[in-house]
Amino acid sequence: MKTVAAALRAATQSLQARSDTDALDAQVLLAEVCGRDRAWLLAHGDRPLTPPQARRFSALVARRAQGEPLAYIRRRQAFFDRDFHVSPAVLIPRPESELLLELALAHAPPDFSGTVAEIGAGSGALGIAFATLRPRARVILTDISPAALTVARVNARRNGVNPTFLQGDLLLPLLARGERVDLLLANLPYVRSEDLPGLEVSRHEPWIALDGGAEGLDLIRRLLRDLPRVCQPGALALLEIGMLQGAEALRLARALRPRQVRVLPDLAGLDRVLYVHL
Ligand code: GLN
Repeated sequence: MKTVAAALRAATQSLQARSDTDALDAQVLLAEVCGRDRAWLLAHGDRPLTPPQARRFSALVARRAQGEPLAYIRRRQAFFDRDFHVSPAVLIPRPESELLLELALAHAPPDFSGTVAEIGAGSGALGIAFATLRPRARVILTDISPAALTVARVNARRNGVNPTFLQGDLLLPLLARGERVDLLLANLPYVRSEDLPGLEVSRHEPWIALDGGAEGLDLIRRLLRDLPRVCQPGALALLEIGMLQGAEALRLARALRPRQVRVLPDLAGLDRVLYVHL
């Protein structure tokens, strides 16, 4: 029977070609199979795997070796220290998006009781993490994809919050209900259509969450156009953008004549968030 250490060695080797984090990936997957954490595995290398554990581990490693993201294999991803369910119906939450959430929290004091909407919420990571940290806020999550909203509902329950879910295209569900928000968060699709086929992310993650049209800004442009109609005076909108889109995003937002508009870089120094204070 294979031991934990031997199984990890073999899996690391078979992941080498595919992943820069081969050893870590192998540990995360075996931890999943054994129902233990990575520290336990490392301390118990001589333990034998049961045949069902060995079989399940091989199956998961084979999926990872095909390039499937760890988050889809494990059906979960941490974001802002919270646990989110993910499926191929939604984009996997990225650490870069935590900047957007930090800006939202800096804007909203702990007793903030305004209305917040996350548009194109997908897994709901931004809006749901916000809801856990600002419990008096009224939070609305929208998405055009019913399958994505199903995932977001699981996440709301998992994180103990109770937002409103609205299905529809960008701001239309808010406009239809006459909603006005104080804070708007969105990580819309912003990849240029022509870049998509060549990108690793597009092999597994939903195109509907990535494809931003010719310049990548189709959805952001449409959202900005309708923004004043769903915002309270003085509202803040925070939109994630691609690293090459800062200048054009600023130009689009300035057309709204906001009080303040900025593009903020992420920790890697790349343009990441469009900040529009109406
Ligand atoms: N962060 C994704 C990327 O890998 C893009 C996400 C998006 O389009 N919102 O570029």
